[in-house]
Amino acid sequence: MNIKQHIQNLRNELREHNYNYYVLDNPAISDYDFDIKLKELQELEAKYPEFFDANSPTQRVGGEVTKNFETIAHEHRMYSLDNSYSKEDLQDWEIRIKKLVDGGIQYTCELKYDGASISLTYENGLLVKAVTRGDGFQGDNVTANVKTIKSVPLQLKGDYPPKFDIRGEIVLPFDGFNKMNEERIELGEEPYRNPRNTASGSLKLQDSAEVAKRPLECLLYNLTGSNLGIQTQFESLVKAREWGFKVPDTAKLASSIDEVFEFINYWNVHRHDLPYETDGVVVKVNNLQQQEELGHTAKAPRWAMAYKFKAEQVSTQLNSITYQVGRTGAITPVANLEPVELAGTTVKRASLHNADQIEKLDIRVGDEVFVEKGGEIIPKIIAVDFTKRKPDAGPTQYITHCPECNTLLERLEGEAKHFCPNYNGCNPQIIGRIQHYISRKAMDIDGLGGETVALLVNEGLINNYSDLYELTKEQVMPLERMAEKSAENLVAGIEASKQIPFERVLFALGIRFVGETVAKKLAKHYKSIDAIAIASEEDLVNVDEIGIKIAQSVTAFFKDEKNVLILNRLKQFGVQLEISANQLIGQTNILKGQSIVVTGVFESISRNDLKKLIEDNGGKISSSISSKTSYIIAGANMGPSKKDKAENLNISIINEHEFLQKLN
Ligand code: AMP
Ligand code: ZN
Repeated sequence: MNIKQHIQNLRNELREHNYNYYVLDNPAISDYDFDIKLKELQELEAKYPEFFDANSPTQRVGGEVTKNFETIAHEHRMYSLDNSYSKEDLQDWEIRIKKLVDGGIQYTCELKYDGASISLTYENGLLVKAVTRGDGFQGDNVTANVKTIKSVPLQLKGDYPPKFDIRGEIVLPFDGFNKMNEERIELGEEPYRNPRNTASGSLKLQDSAEVAKRPLECLLYNLTGSNLGIQTQFESLVKAREWGFKVPDTAKLASSIDEVFEFINYWNVHRHDLPYETDGVVVKVNNLQQQEELGHTAKAPRWAMAYKFKAEQVSTQLNSITYQVGRTGAITPVANLEPVELAGTTVKRASLHNADQIEKLDIRVGDEVFVEKGGEIIPKIIAVDFTKRKPDAGPTQYITHCPECNTLLERLEGEAKHFCPNYNGCNPQIIGRIQHYISRKAMDIDGLGGETVALLVNEGLINNYSDLYELTKEQVMPLERMAEKSAENLVAGIEASKQIPFERVLFALGIRFVGETVAKKLAKHYKSIDAIAIASEEDLVNVDEIGIKIAQSVTAFFKDEKNVLILNRLKQFGVQLEISANQLIGQTNILKGQSIVVTGVFESISRNDLKKLIEDNGGKISSSISSKTSYIIAGANMGPSKKDKAENLNISIINEHEFLQKLN
C-alpha cells in the first residue's frame, strides 16, 4: 500500500472513532489505541508534508492564534426567535399562522440549547468556515477555534449537498464546566458563573490550543441553503445526523398545540437529566414549503416560536450566614438556608459572593428569601421577601476578622472579596496550600489525601509542605484509620515526589495566579527557582503570557521570608527546583532577545514544534506584528493585512527552512 493511501485510511479511521466517541457517545476503541493511531498519523504527516490536509483529525489540537477576529457577512441572515411563555401565547401564534398558510400544520418540537449560536459552512463535505451570530447580518470568523471541537465534523459522510450552512449552538456540558471551575478554584481564581457565557467566551479565545482543551460540544438544529432536496424540518435533522453532525434525538413531531405542550411539560421536568443547559423549547412549522410562505418579520421567522422555561424559584428562610476561608485567604459568605426542593435537588446553601452582594440584597438572618436556579448551577438568592421581614431583624454586619484565625481582614483596591492576610498562620490556608501541593496535577503524592493533610496539620505534625519530607512512618501510624501499610505508602509517596519535574513543583507551590500553564512558561524561561526568585516585575512581564497581576504575585511570594525558608528546606530534601539536565538538551540561547511572529501553514514542521524550537532556543513568540518584532516566520497563506503591516514596518519575512538554517 502506498503512503498516501495509508495516511488516507488512518484519517478515515480516526474520523470514524471521533464520530463514535463525540457524536454518538459510543467509543469503539480505547483512548490508548486512539492515541497510538493519532500519533502514527501525526508522524506520517510530519514526514510527508506533501499530503497535508487542513481537515485532518490531527488538526484538532489547535495552535493557531487569532488576534482580531475577521468580520464575515452571513450569506443567509441569522434571525432571532420570538418568545412565548404560556399555552395561550402558543395558541395565539397558531391562529396567526393558520391565516397565512393553507392546509394542516405539523410542528417540530426541539429543545432550546443554551449556548452560543454558530453558523457552519460546508463545501463539498468539508468545513470551510464557522461564524458567530454577531448582529445576525455579520459575525466573527472563529473557524480555527471551532475546528478544535471534536463533535464538529471536519469532513462529512453520506449524501450531503455540495454547499450549505448549518446552524447550531455551542454548549459547555455541566461536567466539563464543573471540572473547569474546580481547577479555577484550586488556583484561587473566581469560578465561571455559567456554562453559556463560558462557551461564548471560549469561542473568542485567541489561542485555539486553549479552546481545544475546553470540553465544548456543538448541537445542530437548522439547515440553510438552496436545493437541499429536503421537505421538512424533521427530515433535515435526520439528514444532518446521517452526515455526521451531533443532532440530539430529543426532537418530536406534534400535530397540535396540545401535543406541543405535552413535549414542553415533559422537558420542563426532564431537562434536569440532560448533560447540558436548556432554557426552553423551540416549536417550528415542520413543512419547509409552509415555512417559506410564512417568511420572516424584521427580527424573527414567523414559522418558529421559542417557549421559555420558567426559571425555577422557591422561597425559604435564611437561617444563618457563615464565612468560608479559601486556600488563598479569600472570604466567601455562604447563606445557610432552611432545606428546600428546587429543580430536582435539595438546596441548603447558596453563595452570597461578597460583602457588596449582601448589601445589595439587604439580606438579614431570619429573612424569607427567593432562591432561583437558572442558567447557573449553583442556586442563587434573587431577593428578600420584604413583606415577611421580622421587625427585630437588624442589618447584616459583614465580618471584620477572619472566622478561623481572628486576623483583621483586608480588602484590596478593586477586589470584590475580603482577604485574611494571615498567610502563614490561618488554618484553612495552611491546609489548603498543602492539599494543593499534593494534588494530582501538582506533586501527585500517592497514598496521601486531603483529609489526611488536615489531620496532620491539626495534630501539629506538619505546618507547610516542606514538613512533609520529614514525616516518619512512626509519626503517622497513630493517626485515625492509618494502618502500617498505608503509613508506609504515604512516606514512600512523599519520597517519590522528589522526582517530580521542576515545572510541576512550581505549580505545586501554590503561588496565586500561577497555574499549570504559567508554571510551565516560567520554568522554561528561568530554568530554576533561584532565577525566578530574583526576577523583577518588569523582567517577569517580558515573559510570554505573563501579565502584571501574575508578576506582582510572584515577586510578593519570594519577598515573604517564610517562603524562602520553606524553599530552602525543599531544596535540602532534594525536591526538583531547577530544570533537569535532560530537559535542557536541545536548548540554546541563540534567539535570546528576539521577538518572533509565526504565521500561516507550514509544510515540514508543525506550528507547535516550530514554537517549541523558538522557545527552546531562547526566543520569544509574539502573536502580533509590531515595531518590536525581530522577524516573521511565514508559511503558506499568510494573511494580506499581516503582510502589509510587515512591509510598512520594514520587518523581514522568512520561511521555515530559512529559520531552521538560522538555528543550525
Ligand atoms: P434568543 O437568543 O433568546 O433570541 O433565542 C434565539 C436563539 O436560540 C437562536 O439564535 C439560537 O442560537 C438558539 N437556539 C437554541 N436551540 C435552538 C433550536 N433548537 N432551534 C433554533 N434556535 C435555537
Ligand atoms: Zn485567617
